[in-house]
Amino acid sequence: MDELLIKSIAGNRVRLKSNIFKSKSNTILISNELSGNLLSFRENLSCKSIVFVHNDNTSLDEIIRKIKALFPTIILHSIPASTAVCGSDEDCTSCTRTEVNPVSFKRRTIEFGLLTGYSIFLFVTETVLGLTVVASPLSLVAVVAMVAAVPLLRESWEDAKRGKFTLETFMGGTLALAILFGEATAAFEIIYILRGAMLLEDYIAIKSKNEIHKLIELDIQKVFILCDGVELEIDLADLKQDDIVVCRSGEKIPVDGMIIDGSCEVNEALINGRSDATYKAMDDIVYAGTMLERGRVGIKVNAIGNKTYISRVMSDVENALAIKSPAQMEADKLASRLLKLGSFLTVGTFMFTGSYLNAFSVMIVMSCPCATVLAASTAISAGIAKGAKQGILIKGGEALEQVSQSEVFCFDKTGTLTTGRPIIEEIYALKGSTKTEILKYAAMAEYRNTHPLAVSIVKYAQEKKIKINQSVQSETIPGLGVKAKFDGMFILVGNKKFLSNHKISTKDLKDKADKHLQDGDTIVYIAVDKKALGFIVLRHEVRKGTKKMLSDLRAHGVKHIALVSGDDEKVANAFAKEFGFDTVYANQSPRDKADAVEQLKKKYHNVVMVGDGVNDTLAMSKADVAISFAVGGSKAAIDVSNIAISHSHPQDVVELYNISKSTLKVVEQNYWIGTGTNLLGVGFAAFGMLSPAAAGAIHIGHTGAIMLNSSRLTIGSKDNLHAKEDIDIGS
Ligand code: ADP
Ligand code: MG
Repeated sequence: MDELLIKSIAGNRVRLKSNIFKSKSNTILISNELSGNLLSFRENLSCKSIVFVHNDNTSLDEIIRKIKALFPTIILHSIPASTAVCGSDEDCTSCTRTEVNPVSFKRRTIEFGLLTGYSIFLFVTETVLGLTVVASPLSLVAVVAMVAAVPLLRESWEDAKRGKFTLETFMGGTLALAILFGEATAAFEIIYILRGAMLLEDYIAIKSKNEIHKLIELDIQKVFILCDGVELEIDLADLKQDDIVVCRSGEKIPVDGMIIDGSCEVNEALINGRSDATYKAMDDIVYAGTMLERGRVGIKVNAIGNKTYISRVMSDVENALAIKSPAQMEADKLASRLLKLGSFLTVGTFMFTGSYLNAFSVMIVMSCPCATVLAASTAISAGIAKGAKQGILIKGGEALEQVSQSEVFCFDKTGTLTTGRPIIEEIYALKGSTKTEILKYAAMAEYRNTHPLAVSIVKYAQEKKIKINQSVQSETIPGLGVKAKFDGMFILVGNKKFLSNHKISTKDLKDKADKHLQDGDTIVYIAVDKKALGFIVLRHEVRKGTKKMLSDLRAHGVKHIALVSGDDEKVANAFAKEFGFDTVYANQSPRDKADAVEQLKKKYHNVVMVGDGVNDTLAMSKADVAISFAVGGSKAAIDVSNIAISHSHPQDVVELYNISKSTLKVVEQNYWIGTGTNLLGVGFAAFGMLSPAAAGAIHIGHTGAIMLNSSRLTIGSKDNLHAKEDIDIGS
């Protein structure tokens, strides 16, 4: 009977583990069965896991029910959310790392401090004063080494009892032998470095987390709530669901919730990268961490603390930090190979030279491949931290590595390369209707929509003081438009394809519309009761730096850049021509976008999809790397993405590429530092040119060098958090 474990839940992103996920045919069966429920699906057969993002209409229970229906003998075994990262349990060490416990980190730092004090004492006694330190099995050094090695020895004993030969067993054995052979100083050195290296690795992990936390820090302790019409100040920690929080100009919004009183202008740059304030009133949703620039509102609390939208996104990133990337897994494999080589070389040296001491020095050099393991993990953590510092949230090393290994970059147009604020240029009404009427119908239908076109239309109508009826029932059709019902009328607002799908002719509007399309403007048609009344012309502002971003990517060696847009062919073509795309996929439905990505994947190695909307999520889930850009467009896009760029700077894509490239370069350099010095050390040790103590010192040297080399990645990164979004050139 197999168990099914829920390893992590972050928003709609879930990681499950079970023996049944060992088999490709099983995972195919599951992904087919769940195809209607999932936005993305990925399997990792070697660690028996699947990772998926389900859509908002599906619950995890429903997914588990479906999996159980396929495999009736499976038993669900859930683990608490606090430990719901794929922890380093026995049979999944290849894909994970345990979370760092801050308490034990503090204790281990103190212990390491004491060990450092003792190592300074040894150094002064031996090297400065020239005195001999007794290193017999019962000496002080031996006792200190043994005490320091307790955690390691415990682990190696557990492994040995189970008949497993692991890194810990090898190191435990080396330490015991070193002490037994009167080389307690060397034993102390090994354990000292090992504990230092482990501490440093944890330090980097904690530092990366702190960088991420800085992004969402609320620095709010007290909030005002409305109680029987009176404002009361309470601690943020005491706030409950459905309380009404009062927020004013200049304050950060402390919760996710719905406005039930007043109106305001909110800067939501943290969520969607838009630097201008959005007008919000009754029934509108606001997010924790965003800035209320003007106004006063009462917000009914929906989510607090780690339940808020931004916290959930961040926890995605944090969880990803605990999952090993391909380079890290490669490093682990290399380390275990080095371990085998170490045993072989130790025995070989002894047989060849007949010298215990030489064999022993070889054993010490090879006993600590932690440098190899650290080579990748320290660089990747540093890379992720650097990204976070600049508002580029990288959900895991795998995505980070793949960005600079990608040959194709696909970009969505509206909302991604253009700002979320298209400008209304003109309204055209056919005989029998008026411009005001057209704007009113459009604004009513679009009122609840977050699409950039919808937001602009509603805002424009509000500026024109048009009264918008808010009780209209509407439905969004991604990539096409919205349909709405009001007062017995059936309203359609969207593109030509949308209207023709409903058998509504736009013939009378063709000449007028074509003129605008030629200029690269977007046309939104309005039809009421199966009759087109006119259209609204919108001009998109392209994000500043788009051209440079594309040329920089090309200069970096990206082979193919594609525009994958739901917009009209004429508009997409004009845009692609101006900005130099290699291919244009226009008029794309969400399914078409996904097919375009699949097509490119067949021809090229690694495809990146950059998008912002619900209509991009399917394509993003098919791409090797999904980047959500100007994330405010949709929650689904940010959930599916492996990397979320929280500002809207096109240059951030290039920055991300650079971080990816330099991280991989540092990993490679680190390998050379670690493995090269090890092999060199073995050579010297085998011929008696390296004492056991000097063999231990090699580890100090190269571990330090690797740490230093990785930390170069974070140096010089600027805090990009409050950078302004730039816009200019119209297309
Ligand atoms: P892109 O793929 O370039 O981001 P979208 O798929 O978001 O563009 O939109 C494609 C087209 O669908 C738009 O150019 C517009 O014609 C139409 N459309 C989508 N959503 C809406 C909406 N809410 N209102 C009006 N038209 C819309
Ligand atoms: Mg878009």
